[in-house]
Amino acid sequence: MNTYRTIADIRTALEPRREGTIGLVPTMGALHAGHLSLIEAARAECSTVVMSLFVNPTQFGAATDLAAYPRDEAEDLAAAAEAGVDLVFAPAVEEMYPPGFQTWVEVSELGSILEGEHRPGHFRGVATVCLKLFSIVRPDLVYCGQKDAQQVAVLRRMISDLALDVELRDLPTVRDADGLALSSRNSRLSAAERERALALPRALATRDPERARELLDGLEVDYVEIAPFDPPVLAAAIHVGSTRLIDNVPLEEAS
Ligand code: AMP
Repeated sequence: MNTYRTIADIRTALEPRREGTIGLVPTMGALHAGHLSLIEAARAECSTVVMSLFVNPTQFGAATDLAAYPRDEAEDLAAAAEAGVDLVFAPAVEEMYPPGFQTWVEVSELGSILEGEHRPGHFRGVATVCLKLFSIVRPDLVYCGQKDAQQVAVLRRMISDLALDVELRDLPTVRDADGLALSSRNSRLSAAERERALALPRALATRDPERARELLDGLEVDYVEIAPFDPPVLAAAIHVGSTRLIDNVPLEEAS
């Protein structure tokens, strides 16, 4: 497994691999079993698996959240190699956003509800960086987690609206034994906070917004809503201490 820092270098490295199927797994690092499930799915159907490792500053609102985002590149590269990634693209911020950068992708409606309402500009950052990653890697398939169901909906919309030649695969949320969805941000929870955070999967498991709201009573809740994605999901976001957690459960099979 090789790691590339520049757009030019990863493009050159991918050139001889273009006859086969190229799968891209975009990540912000701090890899856990959720990320590994995406890599595993990519490994099973692609001849080349590319993982991007980039903490994208433009999708963060508060500078404190960006600064506190967990980073351990050496550990991530070891986990990626172990999981069977062929190439890692780990650019510096200036490589993705050079001076003068001013082009943005806005998925106007799907990007402005729920998470978009509470994190203005978040999906603009996500869509822009993903389009740039798609343009750099030119994957046949991109692998995403249903944990971020709205992100999947936004990216599917962008792929369809801009006629991008890439297929998106979404994979089920991987959870810890206690039900908490794996997230890089979980490492910031104290034991007591983690206990309180368990209300989130328990509430969503009811698949009923009213009952979920009752079970989350007393916590700082941004929203608990049925989200109109395909499939529709019951989605929620809560704050536990200084950590914001999101989760969702599908309400039907995808069409
Ligand atoms: P992130 O590094 O948080 O940007 O996530 C990279 C990819 O991993 C995204 O497509 C996420 O939806 C996915 N992902 C994150 N957490 C999980 C999880 N618990 N189960 C499955 N996929 C996940």
